Amino acid sequence: MPELPEVETIKRGLSKFIINKKLTKTTILCGKSFIGAPVTGTVKTIRRFGKALIIDLDNGKSLMIHLRMTGQLIYDGKERYAAGHPSDNFTDKLPNKQTRVILEFDSGPLYFNDQRKFGFIKVVDTDKVEKDDFIKKLAKEPWVMTPEEFYEKLQKHKNSLIKATILDQTIICGLGNIYADEALFASKIHPERRCSTITKNEAKLLLESARKVMDESIASGGSTMATYVKADGTKGDYLEKFAQVFRHEGRPCVRCGEKIIKIRVAGRGTHICPNCQRKNHD
Ligand SMILES: [Zn+2]
Repeated sequence: MPELPEVETIKRGLSKFIINKKLTKTTILCGKSFIGAPVTGTVKTIRRFGKALIIDLDNGKSLMIHLRMTGQLIYDGKERYAAGHPSDNFTDKLPNKQTRVILEFDSGPLYFNDQRKFGFIKVVDTDKVEKDDFIKKLAKEPWVMTPEEFYEKLQKHKNSLIKATILDQTIICGLGNIYADEALFASKIHPERRCSTITKNEAKLLLESARKVMDESIASGGSTMATYVKADGTKGDYLEKFAQVFRHEGRPCVRCGEKIIKIRVAGRGTHICPNCQRKNHD
């Protein structure tokens, strides 16, 4: 599932190709994947709120895109730009049976593919984007939240596990399973510690680590075609580039050499170094 850094990567990547381009036609291949009446217009800006991508047109209308589990955006102009859930669609001929919507720009088509159909594109008034039900409940992202604010939020959820708390998008916006594990590892915090045991310094460190792991992911290109298909033509996983614990079970910790293990926390597969991240932290 694309996480926030992937959506930020898509925002930056797509901006290069469709800003100032005209959306001339929308072909809807799956009714469930497109909400509202199709619109036309020139793209002014692309914004992101949490994991929602907003394409603003010059006529007061915007397209809100939720990729969810398996959504992909593949632009096929002079060159191809593909991002989202990694799959062979990045390089295959399109449209195909997973294509749900085709946004036709005067410079080329933008395919919205979505194998499992949980994602969608919705037409909204540009001035109502921030009042949208999904967007208005999002908390601040790690880049704008202060350490004091973060610590206060943890104090309000004293009995909750730290991992469950940082995954809650109404408390802090942007951390999904991968980045929660990476940020907790970077700050040497066991995911099952209660929020009440997290010190002010640890809260600050965790917030800074969250920013850092997501910045690194954005810098490395997230899950885009460039990271999916390596220079030698083989397929890789962008996680290989920067992840230190996520899906690293059985491999040595980069800090201490202890084997990374996988446990379950708050119903999610969770990766930790049992030596660097201690549960009984007094
Ligand atoms: Zn370790």
